[in-house]
Amino acid sequence: HAQTNNLDAFWMPFTANRQFKQAPRMFVGAKDMHYTTSDGRQVLDGTAGLWCVNAGHCRPKITEAIQRQAAELDYAPAFQMGHPKAFELASKLVSIAPTGLDHVFYTNSGSESVDTALKIALAYQRAIGQGARQRLIGRERGYHGVNFGGISVGGIVNNRKFFGGLLGGVDHMRHTHDPERNPYPKGETEHGAELADDLLRIATLHDPSTIAAVIVEPVAGSTGVLPPPKGYLKRLREICDQHGILLIFDEVITGYGRLGQPFAADYFEVTPDIIVTAKGLTNGVIPMGAVFVRNEIHDAFMGGPEHMIEFFRGYTYSGNPIAAAAALATLETYKEEGLFERAKALEPVWADAIHSLRGTRHVIDIRTIGLIGAIELEPIAGQPTKRAFAAFVEAYEKGLLIRTTGDIIALSPPLIIEERQIGEIVETLRPILEALN
Ligand code: PMP
Repeated sequence: HAQTNNLDAFWMPFTANRQFKQAPRMFVGAKDMHYTTSDGRQVLDGTAGLWCVNAGHCRPKITEAIQRQAAELDYAPAFQMGHPKAFELASKLVSIAPTGLDHVFYTNSGSESVDTALKIALAYQRAIGQGARQRLIGRERGYHGVNFGGISVGGIVNNRKFFGGLLGGVDHMRHTHDPERNPYPKGETEHGAELADDLLRIATLHDPSTIAAVIVEPVAGSTGVLPPPKGYLKRLREICDQHGILLIFDEVITGYGRLGQPFAADYFEVTPDIIVTAKGLTNGVIPMGAVFVRNEIHDAFMGGPEHMIEFFRGYTYSGNPIAAAAALATLETYKEEGLFERAKALEPVWADAIHSLRGTRHVIDIRTIGLIGAIELEPIAGQPTKRAFAAFVEAYEKGLLIRTTGDIIALSPPLIIEERQIGEIVETLRPILEALN
């Protein structure tokens, strides 16, 4: 038998043992804005875990709800049975969703929500006699999780190139007019409508009446925090309406207050047909996702031919009691503490603070939106990711957790962050950036 405590047994590619075999970074505790490390240090969480712990860590209300639920009703199938909290949660969720998206389907993650949304889109088109609509459109640099649907519509070539044929009939809209420039050439942030017209280019390559749905992240997160250029999402909505194409927002990151509104749909005042969520739904504590659908979509399924329901399965853990209890307690926490409003009020403070790093050595771009920020560093020639990773290690040593993607530092603190902690993030980063090679 292998010896216990073999650090290679858990081999997820990016986890703790990879770069620091001798002294892997480990978290052993967390409270509110901080993690505790295995060597007993406090680390300020600048990332809300992986963009998910929006209400901060180990919040007693959420923890207790989970404990109570686990003791009272641990599991109940959503198949031919139910339990009250799943229904109560759905009502609460639709009450904060954009008007007209009054139904939710539960999953266990962002990836599952994405694949579920794509299936809903295809099945809906068929249900309304649009079965020729089989094509799905994503966007370059879009990240939609790790399942087959998600990597197919996702715009990261490296994430899909080893995995065979994937979904057929997928195209990717351009992320920018100038793929060499990262992310947008000067002035392009003003020309979102023009960029969205790339959907028309794809539509005319085929036939618009063969396209089922378009999926986009309102703000591309994992590929480096890329807020859409002005008018982009509105114009996408227009084109989709003109051509009977469904618009899906992947709000796995932007949902539940990250932009100071329940959803990015509210922030950008564009209502999609389907909203994909996970992460902040349960404060990241228990795996759970929810897919919101427009009423017509729900009605076509539930009022449509028997086979629509018969062929559409949920998951063993869809709406399970413990996740539902965690989500209910999370939504209550957001509401009681006014965390979405808080994020909104902090947005300009956050923007000013992060933008104050402009002009620091190697910083080539800074972007913020809601309580998300990106500090883009000039890559070292031939060694992409090295500079940002060095900043990550330094920050961790100095008591700050950031996240990097390529040479971009991504920030997304819990929404409970205090102004002085925003200052702490910036003043920890400033000397680190100045000292980088
Ligand atoms: N979509 C987006 C926009 C995401 O950011 C993520 C995760 N970072 C996912 C989907 C996948 O979510 P999960 O990791 O929960 O499967």
